Amino acid sequence: MPEGDDFYCSMRQLYANETEGTNYTKEWYRHRWRYETSKNYPDENTTCIMAPHGGGIESGTTELALATAGFTDGFNNHPAASETYDYFIFNGTNPTNQNGKLHVTASNFNDPAAIELVQRSVISLAFHGCTDEQPDESTGIGYKACLIGGRDENFKDVLEIQLTGAGFNAYKTKQESLNGDLRANIINRNKQNAGAQFELTTTFRKSLYGVNNRKDRRTSTNADFWLFVNTIRASIKQHRILLAI
Ligand SMILES: [Zn+2]
Repeated sequence: MPEGDDFYCSMRQLYANETEGTNYTKEWYRHRWRYETSKNYPDENTTCIMAPHGGGIESGTTELALATAGFTDGFNNHPAASETYDYFIFNGTNPTNQNGKLHVTASNFNDPAAIELVQRSVISLAFHGCTDEQPDESTGIGYKACLIGGRDENFKDVLEIQLTGAGFNAYKTKQESLNGDLRANIINRNKQNAGAQFELTTTFRKSLYGVNNRKDRRTSTNADFWLFVNTIRASIKQHRILLAI
């Protein structure tokens, strides 16, 4: 999350003033629907993963969202995931340090495709990045922390228990600017009106990659990256059992 107010008050305004393919890219995946029966694939599209400030805006979140959604082709030495989720990713593609302008806060994130995907999901999870200094609470030695937010309290509990169990410094935050609890926050616009989100400190995100730049991140993911991603995927599965979906 860049410091200060957003330059654009909505994605609609951003799209009217920036150029896709030059300043930004966006990608999403929605699972197929069977035309003949109007039935979807129920096991797969109940979950939506997002990185609304990916690319150079909150670096490292694009790769985490892709891998969590199960789209790991192009990643180093990792087989394709057997199960994939819907996802939406917006990438800032300006030169380094010129991407803060492309940050539209999650409660103003009115991209139609992103909204549609989230509204169709029961479980939704967003990856965000904060600086090392933005959390008010102590992030512990070395600023390596994963702050859990959103309105889905049960899912947040599962994530906290699983991630701390795996050895990560992960905790639910009450800090207003980082806790993602606004109803209008896009991640809370799913069928439960409650999603979850991470605010990952800069040091935490950097610690997941061997080479931390846009080109090389996904081919230099380390063991911690996969432990983090697989723990989140296990948490999603556990939460789906709780919700009976
Ligand atoms: Zn963000």
